[in-house]
Amino acid sequence: MSAVAEEKKIIKGGAFLIEERVPEDIFTPEDFTEEHRMIADTTRQFIDNEVNTRIDELESHDWKLARELVGKAAELGLIGANIPEEYGGLGLDQTSGALVGENIGRSASFATTLGAESGIGLLPIIYFATEAAKEKYLPKIAAGELITAYALTEAGSGSDAMAAKATARLSDDGTEYILNGEKMWITNGGFADIFIVFAKVDGDKFSAFIVERQPGLTSGAEEHKMGIKGSSTTALVLSDVRTPVENLLGEIGKGHKIAFNVLEVDGA
Ligand SMILES: Cc1cc2nc3c(=O)[nH]c(=O)nc-3n(C[C@H](O)[C@H](O)[C@H](O)COP(=O)(O)OP(=O)(O)OC[C@H]3O[C@@H](n4cnc5c(N)ncnc54)[C@H](O)[C@@H]3O)c2cc1C
Repeated sequence: MSAVAEEKKIIKGGAFLIEERVPEDIFTPEDFTEEHRMIADTTRQFIDNEVNTRIDELESHDWKLARELVGKAAELGLIGANIPEEYGGLGLDQTSGALVGENIGRSASFATTLGAESGIGLLPIIYFATEAAKEKYLPKIAAGELITAYALTEAGSGSDAMAAKATARLSDDGTEYILNGEKMWITNGGFADIFIVFAKVDGDKFSAFIVERQPGLTSGAEEHKMGIKGSSTTALVLSDVRTPVENLLGEIGKGHKIAFNVLEVDGA
């Protein structure tokens, strides 16, 4: 089939709801491969045997344990499922990723932790990072050595994300961006190593950066939540935090593409 014909076959948005379909077009669980079933079983057993048995410790904010469990999830390939093989992942198909997500949901708290690690805190790097940043971070994320977080929301900007007040400016020597601002409700905020931070370059160009934990980047106290208490949710203060220009994601002023596309893919 030619590329054009192949493209025409792609069903866009909710079109499948109103177009004529035959049963063979519909993907059902009966279509899972042996590999799909294996990754679903592996994920289910990991959550039931290793995570849900220790939920009390997670709910007491034992983030050392959370890190260990992220490491174990990585060993099982649950973080690298959708990371391309050349960056240390398994490069599995989207169905595998969905099965991992579905079964991780057996622990709401750990699903939140891993959702940031392998979803909103990871996808901006896969889709928008420079080659240098991909090579630097992706293998360590796939291995569960680096915990990620996604820092978009601020006290004055939630749904209206583009109203963010955090700023970034290029250093005088042009090698780094210097970020300032305050973020709120950041999943994994208490113990993440790297953050996808949205800030406005020169105060008006909404952009995204990978930022490493460093002096000047401070996590607030854990929020007292009604549920998912075994996941970390904190504010984040950025005070003259520095990140190299290679850690810019996508283009200056085009951060909205990253913020919203990634939330859409992740279903957040
Ligand atoms: C447990 C938890 C974890 C989170 N993790 C992260 C994270 O990792 N990273 C991150 O960046 N953020 C995170 N968030 C923040 C979350 O994404 C925001 O809460 C969300 O964007 C909504 O923003 P808000 O809470 O300020 O609500 P608001 O934007 O103030 O909305 C409040 C209500 O008003 C409605 N509303 C808003 N605008 C309109 C409108 N124009 N018309 C009609 N109705 C409207 C909304 O639907 C909602 O019901 C987290 C939040 C929670 C609770």
